[in-house]
Amino acid sequence: MRYRLEAAADSAELRLGSLAQAMPVATPLRVLIVEDSVTDAELLLMELKRGGYDVSHGRYTTEAEVRKALKAGPWDLIVSDYSLPGFDGMRCLQLYRESGLDIPFILMSGTVGEEIAVEAMKGGAHDYIMKDRLVRLVPAIKRELREAVARRERRSFMEHMEFIAYHDPVTRLPNQRLFLQEVEQAIRQSASGPGRQLVIAIPEIAKFKEIRTTVTQADYDTLMRQIADRIWLRCEGMLNLARIDDYTFAALFPVDKDADPAAAVRGLLTAFDEPYEIDPFLLHLDASIGMAVHSPGIPAAGMLRNAMVAANQARDKHQPHALYSMAEDLSSPGNLALLGQLRDAIRSGELALHYQPIMDLRTERITGVEALVRWNHPELGLLQPEKFLGLAESSNLIMPLTAWVVDAAFSQWRQWRETGLDIDMAINLSVRNIQDHAFADYIAQRAREHGIDPGRFVLEVTESSIMTDHEVANDELMRLRGFGFKVAVDDFGTGHSSLSYLQRLPVDDIKVDRNFVTRIGENPQDLAIVNAVLGFAKGLGKRVVAEGVESGEALGILRGIGCHLAQGFHISRPLEREAAARWLAKQKLGR
Ligand code: C2E
Ligand code: CA
Ligand code: CA
Repeated sequence: MRYRLEAAADSAELRLGSLAQAMPVATPLRVLIVEDSVTDAELLLMELKRGGYDVSHGRYTTEAEVRKALKAGPWDLIVSDYSLPGFDGMRCLQLYRESGLDIPFILMSGTVGEEIAVEAMKGGAHDYIMKDRLVRLVPAIKRELREAVARRERRSFMEHMEFIAYHDPVTRLPNQRLFLQEVEQAIRQSASGPGRQLVIAIPEIAKFKEIRTTVTQADYDTLMRQIADRIWLRCEGMLNLARIDDYTFAALFPVDKDADPAAAVRGLLTAFDEPYEIDPFLLHLDASIGMAVHSPGIPAAGMLRNAMVAANQARDKHQPHALYSMAEDLSSPGNLALLGQLRDAIRSGELALHYQPIMDLRTERITGVEALVRWNHPELGLLQPEKFLGLAESSNLIMPLTAWVVDAAFSQWRQWRETGLDIDMAINLSVRNIQDHAFADYIAQRAREHGIDPGRFVLEVTESSIMTDHEVANDELMRLRGFGFKVAVDDFGTGHSSLSYLQRLPVDDIKVDRNFVTRIGENPQDLAIVNAVLGFAKGLGKRVVAEGVESGEALGILRGIGCHLAQGFHISRPLEREAAARWLAKQKLGR
């Protein structure tokens, strides 16, 4: 019996299937018609039916009716007459735009008029059709509906990209970027409330790297999800949990000012009391906690870094938890001595610029170099900027340091140019420079004194420093561009902005952070993100520079997707000036 029923159903389906093939099914189309003439509306409907549409429609003639109809929806298409008594097509177009709908809007008119057509298209109409040329209507609608679908797909792709760019795909928790953004917001809104303070806590799981390499990827992912779930369950009052890298979770808590932060975040430790089940094993994990309390003036990124410092301390000292202490860190004997010496180093010529070439991927020529500061320390040897820039930034030394860098870069550029090396040069600015209203005038003045062309210099500002106070930063960047300098947003992707924020940034170049570039060949997510940035940048007429190109493979991929410029160890490491001059002399330069 059962068998027969199924067989019957099958054959019914078959019949329906072949019928559908023989007679093309009309496409349903819901049309909002704004037209006073019944006859014209009938003609329009006939044309649509002839074009293969199964039309349902509403016809309206007044502004009030159209407003209501737009709200009631849903519609696939709007066709509006250009002139109606007491209402008109341009006004209707405006209503449509205000509604935020993204469906084709087609304006129809009985009169010939080039100006009307231009006005309509400028106003955002998708097409303009004469009533005596109705044959154009169906092809135009087909095209516009296709376009609207493509727009929607692009939008949902961008939304998907934004999700990927801001979340860990395994646990679906926020990633480091989003976490920092959320911490920043919590700081701004003083989410902790009066008498409360914000604490970032990081569980440092013992031997986690070993575990990572002994279990399968799938088991590791499962473990990460289990840990995340358990932390959420155990930590009452936690504001946020993020996975900030492959091994690390970070949590944000509001804590009473006079309470012990360690007590408030204890839930994090209890998440590791019982073993985790990774079939067929029971995995006993041991964790310690690093904490950092927010103090005024410290940005989210600094707070997170401090929590990590504390997590390392807790692990090294085998303590269940450690609280970051600014005093311990800044006054650590090594740092204090270094800070004192840096002041003299700037004056006495111990600083040097190294230069890293930048390549145009279309022409494979070298277009410029980025100037990177180094410190030739008499005892410690060559120091990388990470060793001393933080110190300079937390004291007032960043101003004289940048002034030194600017002068050194300007004179090097001139000297090279006089010997026939004609290239662009990029200089890094610190967040403090772009918050300083006098800086733009200062650097413009120095450019005049050195007789250099500001148009050949790109001033790089990190995304996170722009976001620190983006209104001030935007003004300063605009002033720098006003003086003829180019501006680049550096380390793009690590700050707190979103792709769509790029639209408002007054910059010429976008330097995609090397986190997205180095493994572009292995990691499809990275590729998708760089592609999305490229798509956005191209639409806005900005150039994209990929940093951290370490392999020929990455270079090839970047060229393939149309990235403009590349920089990285695969092209060349940063070189001291003599070596840079020799290297450049052997290259094809220019665009
Ligand atoms: P940045 O602006 O992102 O500079 C690029 C950094 O990436 C350089 O590190 C460079 O050596 C490194 N790098 C270049 N290609 C590759 C690659 O293929 N793979 C990898 N893994 N790394 C690569 P460096 O010189 O240590 O500079 C670190 C940061 O210090 C710079 O990052 C910049 O933010 C800052 N900095 C350097 N010079 C100055 C300066 O004169 N003023 C200011 N305010 N900041 C500076
Ligand atoms: Ca840079
Ligand atoms: Ca960078």
